[in-house]
Amino acid sequence: MKKRIGLLYGGKSAEHEVSLSTARAVTGALNFEEYEVYPIFITSDGEWRRGERLEKPVSAIEELQFGDNTTILENNITDFLIDKNGAEVKFDVIFPLLHGTNGEDGTVQGLLEVLNLPYVGNGVLASSAGMDKVVMKQLFEIAGLPQVPYTYFIRSEWKNEQQAIIERCENNLNWPMFVKPANLGSSVGISKATNREELEKAIEVALQYDRKIVVEQGIVAREVELAVLGNDYPEVSVPGEIKPVTDFYDYDSKYKDGSTALIIPAELPVETVASLKELAKRAFKAIDGSGLVRADFFVTAENNVYINEVNTMPGFTPVSMYPLLWQHTDVSYPELIDRLITLAIERYEEKQ
Ligand code: ATP
Ligand code: MG
Ligand code: MG
Ligand code: MG
Repeated sequence: MKKRIGLLYGGKSAEHEVSLSTARAVTGALNFEEYEVYPIFITSDGEWRRGERLEKPVSAIEELQFGDNTTILENNITDFLIDKNGAEVKFDVIFPLLHGTNGEDGTVQGLLEVLNLPYVGNGVLASSAGMDKVVMKQLFEIAGLPQVPYTYFIRSEWKNEQQAIIERCENNLNWPMFVKPANLGSSVGISKATNREELEKAIEVALQYDRKIVVEQGIVAREVELAVLGNDYPEVSVPGEIKPVTDFYDYDSKYKDGSTALIIPAELPVETVASLKELAKRAFKAIDGSGLVRADFFVTAENNVYINEVNTMPGFTPVSMYPLLWQHTDVSYPELIDRLITLAIERYEEKQ
């Protein structure tokens, strides 16, 4: 029997467009002999719309947005489980291709849990822990993973104790510093500060995106990422290096210029690769990951390794780092998608 799969994409986040390209690519890689594919589109306003079953891969992103002839629902979020005649559409698995807020942060995962539907990727806890850079860092600290020094605060503290916060940064961290909203991705709201004035500005920018802010000590290092795949016994890919041409790997270099070079496998001593792989697994376990994460590291000239973060729903187009890392580890894009679906069903069945 064919597996019925719901592709969930779009979403009310800064990464809406990215999600649409991912969804298009995934329809191109799914074997339609093996899967019945239903598109479930979340508009940028947060409305849920389910389309008719796809007959073939979609060629244009517009096909995934349905235009005015939306098939189903807007009123009730669970209506995507009901067809035109009021019968239940029973999904074998939901594949969330969502990034950031309301997608990668455990909220959609929670909804799918409540609906008792198997879904691809990380569960509620791992997703929310991976989304919040402060919680993630604290879990990494407990797991003994090496990280750069950091501090954090919330908006109301900034309002009331601005001077003390600046002093805390200056006393504990060296310049330059990186200021980040705690709950975001794609480098949105992140700036580098080289002095007090820039630090204050960077904090004001980050506060436009989040109430919780992280300030990190900047590090001069290469950026190396590894892909983790699995549930209880995850596998790790070869490492890949990112070489942004800009000052750092900011939003534009991720999605606009296309000038960033990805070097796979990264050129590193074997011992460094071994320790990166081991740290990637430990990071996955530290957040109680399942399915997939992309673990991002800094590697200094002396080959000292620091974890920067994990991403629980990393970029997933065929030219994104995560799938490319697997491709270089002998797992093709269609195979990767199959594996993730199998892992989702395994995890679900184990829980029953
Ligand atoms: P994504 O989820 O898209 O990977 P993000 O928004 O979670 O990104 P980070 O990965 O934390 O953001 O940071 C974005 C980029 O900023 C990094 O890839 C790196 O280029 C730079 N950067 C972040 N923190 C530091 C640091 N402490 N030292 C040096 N560079 C940094
Ligand atoms: Mg991130
Ligand atoms: Mg991200
Ligand atoms: Mg990152």
